Amino acid sequence: MSGHIEDYEVLNVIGTGSFSTCYKVQKKSNGHLYVWKAVGYGGMSEEKKQLLVSEVNLLSELRHPNIVQYFDRIIHKETATLYIIMEWCEGGDLATLITKCKKSNSFLDEGFIWRVLYQMCHALHECHRNIPNITILHRDIKPANVFLDGAGNVKLGDFGLARILHKDASFAQTVVGTPYYMSPEVIKGGKYNIKSDIWSLGCLVYELCSLSPPFTGPNIKHLALKIKEGKFSRIPAHYSDDLQKIISLLLSVEHKFRPTIEMILHHPIVVTHVAQET
Ligand code: ADP
Ligand code: MG
Repeated sequence: MSGHIEDYEVLNVIGTGSFSTCYKVQKKSNGHLYVWKAVGYGGMSEEKKQLLVSEVNLLSELRHPNIVQYFDRIIHKETATLYIIMEWCEGGDLATLITKCKKSNSFLDEGFIWRVLYQMCHALHECHRNIPNITILHRDIKPANVFLDGAGNVKLGDFGLARILHKDASFAQTVVGTPYYMSPEVIKGGKYNIKSDIWSLGCLVYELCSLSPPFTGPNIKHLALKIKEGKFSRIPAHYSDDLQKIISLLLSVEHKFRPTIEMILHHPIVVTHVAQET
């Protein structure tokens, strides 16, 4: 079911990351718009290439309204490039949105933030539960990996790819930029688990309110201390106590006190706010 690059017309570059460049493309046969992510695999080991292929296969099994839909992949041997064809999210990513707010000295609507929380829970619920015998942990929930489509739906993207692409790097290099959303248990050397995604979700929702992460520091060592301590300032005063309460729950230092996705979705506070917003 793999297509050819000639099936698409490249419209423009959307942006370049450390391992890939994304382009907006149009499929000639149906006129639909997509994003293709070009990943050069020339320098990769056989093992890493295999991993990349298996991850892309896994992605193709995920189909959910709150997950960036993958459509196809094209391997272009001549240039040793893998093209991953996916849904175009016209609203861009949340990191860009946060930057815009900071520049314009404005804040996001509380209703929008509840919507992101709610829809992200649905995306993670799908990842955590759907495929028999496999639990997909996202491991890289951050504003840059959460997108908005043209209708304002929230879409989680960039599964595992970042992780694979960085796999042989050591801890310090693993993370491009600072690991603001890393959970206390992972910092302490524990295993990444479902509750670590919940922590990252708490950080994401916090950052949407405050426009900066809950835990910061001049270097990784200080940041790690802040995270393990788990103290953070209240979100800006115009946001409700309810929102602050839910964030505090997600940011419980002890992972056993952090709610599961089901618990968040059924929490009376969340139910009330989401009912108000929809
Ligand atoms: P990185 O995430 O490392 O910056 P990417 O190649 O993942 O690099 O993304 C490059 C740019 O393309 C980013 O600005 C990102 O927001 C954008 N982008 C990625 N996927 C999509 C998509 N499905 N829809 C719209 N924009 C996207
Ligand atoms: Mg990305």
